[in-house]
Amino acid sequence: MRVVFLGAPGVGKGTQAEKIASQYQIAKISTGDLLRAAVRNRTPLGVEAKGHMDQGRLVPDSVVIGLVKEKLAELSTPKGFILDGFPRTVPQAEALSDVLKAEGIRLDRVINFRVSREEIVKRLSGRRSCPKCQATYHVDFAPPRNGVACDRCGETLVQRSDDQQEAVEMRLRVYEEQTAPLISFYEQRQLLSHLNGAEAVEVVYQELVRTLSVYRTA
Ligand code: AMP
Repeated sequence: MRVVFLGAPGVGKGTQAEKIASQYQIAKISTGDLLRAAVRNRTPLGVEAKGHMDQGRLVPDSVVIGLVKEKLAELSTPKGFILDGFPRTVPQAEALSDVLKAEGIRLDRVINFRVSREEIVKRLSGRRSCPKCQATYHVDFAPPRNGVACDRCGETLVQRSDDQQEAVEMRLRVYEEQTAPLISFYEQRQLLSHLNGAEAVEVVYQELVRTLSVYRTA
């Protein structure tokens, strides 16, 4: 199964990608996670990416495309992959199509997660994460048991700098301007399915599994 998860920040792509990857034993390639790891490890790529990310802007295409190419080349599982948060611009989508064509591979499906702007702001502003093990929580919808520390490892939770209000506004603007055009890009290629991401996690997951079962080729 080779799929792309598309949608604004906060629509639940990462959560669903995690569940699908473990259910189907396929790789999840999340550019957001890869970039955050690079920032934490202070690699040259992380140093370059950090400023863009903190402001809620996109990291330059050349950097992200290089990162994804590297990860795709490393894949040992022939079963497939989920791309979560990539592509986010038309040049990224074109680069992906070139890479896959060169490998003789086709995408099975692109899933577009839809959630209202109001709900997205609510989700992102309440999101908290663990700086040690990267587990994520929400102050209202999925709070940790004792309110401030990670259930898994006990570390004090933090708010991602790009989940703060100004950065969230910027990320939504960037999504509209640079990522939303991918909806028609993939519609034209007859690869797109829309999914209502506003439902509960389990409901979205069941719908996703149904959709993928129609289109998966392996
Ligand atoms: P995410 O966790 O997917 O919301 O990504 C967090 C941040 O990482 C984004 O706001 C961007 O700054 C950066 N990022 C993630 N994926 C991409 C991408 N495909 N292209 C450019 N920047 C990205």
